Amino acid sequence: MNDLTIGAVDAAKTISEEALAAFRGEMRGAVALPGEDGYEAARTIWNAMIDRRPALVARCRGPADVIHALRLARKEKLLVAVRSGGHNIAGTAVCDGGLLIDLSPMRSVRVDPSARVARVEAGATLADFDREAQVFALAAPLGINSTTGVAGLTLGGGFGWTTRKFGLTIDNLISADVVTADGEFMRVSETERPDLFWALRGGGGNFGVVTSFEFRLHPLGPEVLSGLVVHPLDEAQALLPEFRRIATDAPDELTVWSVMRKAPPLPFIPAEWHGKEVLIFAACYAGDMAEGEKATRALRSLGRPIADVVSPHSFIKWQTAFDPLLTAGARNYWKSHDFDDLSDAALAAIVGAARALPSPECEVFIAHVGGAMTRVAPDATAWPNRKAHFVMNAHARWRDAGQDSSCIAWARGLYEAAAPFASGSVYVNFMPGDEQDRVEGAYGANYRRLAEVKRRYDPENLFRVNQNIRPAGERK
Ligand SMILES: Cc1cc2nc3c(=O)[nH]c(=O)nc-3n(C[C@H](O)[C@H](O)[C@H](O)COP(=O)(O)OP(=O)(O)OC[C@H]3O[C@@H](n4cnc5c(N)ncnc54)[C@H](O)[C@@H]3O)c2cc1C
Repeated sequence: MNDLTIGAVDAAKTISEEALAAFRGEMRGAVALPGEDGYEAARTIWNAMIDRRPALVARCRGPADVIHALRLARKEKLLVAVRSGGHNIAGTAVCDGGLLIDLSPMRSVRVDPSARVARVEAGATLADFDREAQVFALAAPLGINSTTGVAGLTLGGGFGWTTRKFGLTIDNLISADVVTADGEFMRVSETERPDLFWALRGGGGNFGVVTSFEFRLHPLGPEVLSGLVVHPLDEAQALLPEFRRIATDAPDELTVWSVMRKAPPLPFIPAEWHGKEVLIFAACYAGDMAEGEKATRALRSLGRPIADVVSPHSFIKWQTAFDPLLTAGARNYWKSHDFDDLSDAALAAIVGAARALPSPECEVFIAHVGGAMTRVAPDATAWPNRKAHFVMNAHARWRDAGQDSSCIAWARGLYEAAAPFASGSVYVNFMPGDEQDRVEGAYGANYRRLAEVKRRYDPENLFRVNQNIRPAGERK
């Protein structure tokens, strides 16, 4: 009578009340049905465009809970989504119907300062990680928004302010604990299941549920030279070629991103500029302070900035600098390209779009990567394009559903205009939910090997609510 109707892989199906009760009994964490405690929190993610309702949520507290959840999913043939930080733009952390495996309750971070190693549970955010590591003035390269989940970021590759110095996030991964589709728990590393370890480093959530990650750490902080230099957007045509030159010649320690948007009402930006279009250079020097002063001089001497707040900042604070502009709950849509180099034509396309922002929170950024990440072979991990020197993201962001089509059209317009000058690869973690046909191209030469590993570890494609890599031999 009280059986649960639940979206399965192929059709709606029913789980018996007994099976559900047995599952609740096995789990250390909570099991939440619609209306129960924790259900809404688990299904609510960063991008408010995503409004999916799983039939059942398993709020996991450890690997045992993940094993029980995957056994249930296999037995009952349930559609499965895996959520950690819930920040993926595509919304693949949640499914309609089916079982949501929610790892967000698992947030422990243990740093061994003498070995310079951290063990990080899958639900930890970048802020959780940084706070534990920075108490020992240690860091691993992560992203630029502290509420992002370590798990999804790492599985897609991961880059941020220190990537040029220390490599991609995956280049610092020593091992991971994984539960595969058949519920088997394993540790993977360069020497244990190296095929799976290779695929996890960039292949996303396709191969199993990672319950924890082990990272190599590097001395950094507690302060870094960092901050913003703000110019009128009208200067962008003249300044962006200079940015390109500075970025191309930069030492590994220096990272400079360009952000074009309407100026937020920050105290260091004069009030008359609030809401006007600006070009922001965001710089971070991952090294000696005096060397950083020298390395940032060329950038800081460009033009006549509206504001320049580059100075020593706590690394933890710098890692949160963009958080106020990227809070959860807005509607978001992204379109992204990698660039090996930025031609004048590419820059003109980007500036053209920045002059036509369809809503006050939209922005275009050009992330500066390269450095240490280029010195890893393109087939050493699943991340394919190590040559990419810049990553552009057209970030449409707005509040009112009535603006969906104009904002999405703006991002797509810039994507089309910049496409002829882009490298062809794309960061999987920046792909929206409507780009499934781009996945194979995103991985380029590594796709075939990924599909083989997928066939070995997930032949039935249980993990399909993601940027999906199909098992080799499976028909589309
Ligand atoms: C505001 C913002 C800023 C960002 N900045 C950066 C940046 O600077 N650098 C960067 O590299 N990326 C950045 N990203 C992109 C980010 O890397 C992805 O959104 C990433 O997927 C977030 O991870 P999550 O754990 O929060 O995601 P979730 O949405 O929870 O998960 C994303 C997907 O990863 C898989 N997954 C998650 N956890 C697991 C797990 N434990 N085991 C197996 N599969 C799992 C699942 O397929 C899931 O659908 C940013 C994103 C946002 C929203």
